[in-house]
Amino acid sequence: MPDRHLLLLPGDGIGPEIMAEVKGVIAWFNAGGAGFTFDEDLVGGAAYDAHGAAISEAAMEKAHAAGAVIFGSVGGPKWDKVPYDVRPEAGLLRLRKDLGLFANLRPALCYAALADASSLKRELVEGLDILIVRELTGGVYFGAPKEIIDLGNGQKRGIDTQIYDTYEIERIARVAFDMARTRRGLVTSMEKRNVMKSGLLWNEVVTAVHAAEYPDVKLEHMLADAGGMQLVRQPKQFDVIVTDNLFGDMLSDVAAMLTGSLGMLPSASLGAPNPVNGRRKALYEPVHGSAPDIAGKGVANPIAMIASFGMALRYSFGMTAEADRLDRAIAATLDAGTRTADIWTEGKQRVSTAEMGAAVIAALEKAA
Ligand code: NAD
Repeated sequence: MPDRHLLLLPGDGIGPEIMAEVKGVIAWFNAGGAGFTFDEDLVGGAAYDAHGAAISEAAMEKAHAAGAVIFGSVGGPKWDKVPYDVRPEAGLLRLRKDLGLFANLRPALCYAALADASSLKRELVEGLDILIVRELTGGVYFGAPKEIIDLGNGQKRGIDTQIYDTYEIERIARVAFDMARTRRGLVTSMEKRNVMKSGLLWNEVVTAVHAAEYPDVKLEHMLADAGGMQLVRQPKQFDVIVTDNLFGDMLSDVAAMLTGSLGMLPSASLGAPNPVNGRRKALYEPVHGSAPDIAGKGVANPIAMIASFGMALRYSFGMTAEADRLDRAIAATLDAGTRTADIWTEGKQRVSTAEMGAAVIAALEKAA
């Protein structure tokens, strides 16, 4: 399999429309000699319609073989009544599980041109560039026992269990420190060591990994509740935040809203490095869903999807200069006043999905 081989899984709703714009970006980089190849397959409702499963075994094989999976979005009212095991989301969960994607990366980047769309003051968010690294496969969402038991006295008891083993904390900490090395060199680890044993262990293990392997990176610890407060008070103090599944779920949504629209937010999910070549299994996807309300209308914002491909350039293919160029092209497109409906404001130029894709490519061309 060639080094720069991708699997594109557009999915449902606006997925295919925004993935079309990623194909344009891939073609632009290939014209410059990047050498990307790709397969394309079905996932979600589209896969259910074709195969009766949310992802086929053949598509799973392609996902294992690819250098990165580029995922659109799944779901929609058409599949609301399909059996639970084959519902559209099951395709994404299967990919996460089988590829062992334990690290979820959510950047919160505030483009200067959109700073006024934030709920915070422009000076607090303009130029914001933070990365939340969330543990994705452990913690309270998966720990056992997980049940509701009948106490027999008219009362029930709901139980979830927060569990973390040393190896789970070590590997997520390494992802965070590795990311910090490519950025501004600061990791803030967030937990609740004051009230949770798992928080105590988290703190201890992150500290030990730092001391043994990453003395060049700066490490700070913050209680997760204080971290939430600081995120809305002074978000630019952070570079990389590393935290568990539950806190990461909430803190990454808080950070996302600092930057405006759902149509702007990319994400990555990474697995363990391959012992032979050091490459991690990886899936890149926009944070938003399939937006059935606007699907087929050609008005969806493709930036979250394009920026997700940008993360693949950066984190799967080591193409930092190209990733920076793509980020700058997106910023320049916004600076020029080009807007899809979701981010449009008076006086700006309202464009379609395809026009936004073309504008980003034109900005890439200009920068080159
Ligand atoms: P959604 O993210 O699809 O949409 C929420 C709102 O944001 C909608 O008004 C939508 O039009 C808008 N929006 C989202 N992305 C946009 C974009 N790129 N450009 C412009 N506007 C955009 O969330 P939802 O409506 O709660 O869910 C719709 C479907 O998507 C459901 O079936 C849900 O299960 C699924 N979903 C899938 C994923 C995924 O594939 N990872 C994530 C979330 C939701």
